[in-house]
Amino acid sequence: MVFPELKRPDIDVGRDGGIPDATILLLHAHPDDETLGTGGLMARLVAERVRVVLVTATRGERGEVVPGPLKHLEGTAELAEVRVAELDAAMGELGVADHRFLGAADARASTRSPRRYSDSGMKWGASGFAEAAPDAPSAALSLAPLDEVVDDVLSVIADVRPHVLVSYDERGGYGHPDHVRMHDAAVAAAERSGLPLYVIVSSAVEAQGGDVVVPLGEYRAAKFRALAAHRTQLSVDGDDIVLSGGQRRPVRDVEVFRRWAGE
Ligand SMILES: [Zn+2]
Repeated sequence: MVFPELKRPDIDVGRDGGIPDATILLLHAHPDDETLGTGGLMARLVAERVRVVLVTATRGERGEVVPGPLKHLEGTAELAEVRVAELDAAMGELGVADHRFLGAADARASTRSPRRYSDSGMKWGASGFAEAAPDAPSAALSLAPLDEVVDDVLSVIADVRPHVLVSYDERGGYGHPDHVRMHDAAVAAAERSGLPLYVIVSSAVEAQGGDVVVPLGEYRAAKFRALAAHRTQLSVDGDDIVLSGGQRRPVRDVEVFRRWAGE
């Protein structure tokens, strides 16, 4: 039980084969973020019989595609549906049965009709952090009213009654405006629901006392299989992943989370 909030004796983790009510809700922006940042965590919690619910806000419509046979999908309407299928395959590898898209009927405030939040796209800024693409579509997540995004997250909270929320840090990891939007929504939803929020501590941030460190351990293979399912986004090469621009990144042996205590 990696998070202390799940250790309460009154929370049933389904150890005896019953339906667990210990529930964690992960709030992500694009397909593949969930596996990159929290794949080991999800696989471990599923094995520990915690109910894991993933919400992904967009379908990664504006992202680049790795060189190779799928490259032609870049910039097409078809890419979104391919990425939905990739995410579905990745969740199959991690054992996560409940995943939803923000704005869809099962992740939408009841007062509103369903919508799609779109990937905002990004460009690299001079500071080395990502910035919003100048031509972000009007349906972009980063341009959506924060209240609307928060209300949709709260509707999922009301539905699945999680004990812990997990999302990005205040910089969205590397600055992507959609990640920052989800962080802001997660903070507001945590405040309004009274739930604890943990943020993903990226490798660029120094770990500190009190951080929850989750070793990949026996779930490493599942994380790599889930990564490999995101075929339009990255390729797996040994212990590394290679992104669409050719950037090679080692996959860390741990995932690190920090209890959000406000800014
Ligand atoms: Zn992302």
